[in-house]
Amino acid sequence: MNILITGGSGFIGSHLGEKLLANGHDITIVDNFFSSKVENVARLKSNPNFKIVVHDITYPIEVPGHFDQVYNLACPASPVWYQKDPVHTIRTNVLGMINVLDFARRNNARVLQASTSEVYGDPMEHPQKETYRGNVNTLGPRACYDEGKRAAETLCMDYHRQYGVDVRIVRIFNTYGPRMASDDGRVVSNFILQALAGKPITMYGSGSQTRSFQYVSDLIRGFILMMNQDGFIGPVNIGNPNEFTIKQLAEKVIALCGSKSEIIYEALPEDDPKQRQPDISIAKEKLGWEPLVMLDEGLPKTIEYFRT
Ligand code: NAD
Ligand code: UDP
Repeated sequence: MNILITGGSGFIGSHLGEKLLANGHDITIVDNFFSSKVENVARLKSNPNFKIVVHDITYPIEVPGHFDQVYNLACPASPVWYQKDPVHTIRTNVLGMINVLDFARRNNARVLQASTSEVYGDPMEHPQKETYRGNVNTLGPRACYDEGKRAAETLCMDYHRQYGVDVRIVRIFNTYGPRMASDDGRVVSNFILQALAGKPITMYGSGSQTRSFQYVSDLIRGFILMMNQDGFIGPVNIGNPNEFTIKQLAEKVIALCGSKSEIIYEALPEDDPKQRQPDISIAKEKLGWEPLVMLDEGLPKTIEYFRT
């Protein structure tokens, strides 16, 4: 198949492109390199079935050829990066989504939208089911991302109902692994880099807030299963339900790195969700999917990546 991946040079996009190439597909990535470096896909560049188009998806997408599938991953994903230029973030989520859906409509292609657990905001329901409608502060600094992703889901449904575009919606929960950007500011990369350098571990708030961490290969498997099944649009939560406090994560990282780093406490960012855990009943039932790589296996692989 001929497959287009927007945001294909990013952390998740680079793993997806690699897997789909290995599965025998032709891959074109569209990326403006806002929050990633081309080095992420350096090893794919010599593959004749791999192409890079440098383009910002807030402008119409005009890539020649016929495409069967589009994975829409373009969007800065870490709080640090999506808050650097909030207007770019919301433009990417709204105008970018419209351009992706128009491109898919012209190609008669199926679109998978990389949505997020952030559509649930600071959740009042725990764990989060797909039916939960969320608790997002529309006025806060995370809203450019959260509300943008919510609007993108709406656009997927409107293009589906109004124009018959074939869509799939995946709500991704915190994902980690090799090729996370070292300047991303996300908790897993920050803690590993700090522990390896023997620097203080920056705990925001008391560390009692929770997240559920998924290894990237589990997400890629979920993406491909969701894209290639018929009849279920989603949304579907794809995440690892094993929930940890941020303090527990810090302790694990320090132990696995054999580090002497101390924990220092800094202010909790505004609107930081207090808890997050996916209910994955729908993924199990509709896709036969569940995570296979637990934190004790995935963290050492990620530490090894950052060490080298
Ligand atoms: P990333 O920042 O590494 O990758 C995003 C990519 O999109 C980058 O290569 C960036 O340059 C590109 N991009 C940004 N704006 C663009 C634009 N206007 N036009 C073209 N390209 C643009 O992030 P990631 O972790 O790989 O996330 C990929 C997708 O998955 C994002 O849509 C994100 O919202 C979603 N997601 C990720 C996580 C996670 O834990 N990593 C969780 C939930 C959702
Ligand atoms: N966090 C932290 N120290 C850091 C980076 C993040 O304590 O150096 C916390 C952050 O406040 C949040 C959690 O870790 O509660 C996850 O943050 P991340 O930015 O990775 O993702 P989020 O789930 O908030 O989008």
